[in-house]
Amino acid sequence: MIPLILGGDDPGFFERCCFGRSETPHWTSVASRSGSEQVACCSVCANIYRIKDVPSKRYWCEKERQIAKAMGGALSQGKYQRPKRVLKGGY
Ligand SMILES: [Zn+2]
Repeated sequence: MIPLILGGDDPGFFERCCFGRSETPHWTSVASRSGSEQVACCSVCANIYRIKDVPSKRYWCEKERQIAKAMGGALSQGKYQRPKRVLKGGY
C-alpha cells in the first residue's frame, strides 16, 4: 500500500501513473521522499504495489519521455495536452 495525495496545484491536471500509465490526479506521498521526488500513482496501483516498488522520479520521467518519443510525442504529458509535433531537437 502506497500512501497517496491528491496532487498538484491544478486539480484538473492528470499525470500518468508510474506503474500502469492510467491517467490519475493522485501522487505518491512517500515519507522518505521530498515533494519533488514524488511520482504520479493511481489508487488501483497504490493498493497493489509497495513503497519500495515506486520508481524514482528520474526513472519515471525518463520512461515517460521514451514512451512519448516512441509515440511521436503525443503522450508527453497528461490528457489535457493536445498531441503536438515534435520539434527538431526536442526531447
Ligand atoms: Zn496505476
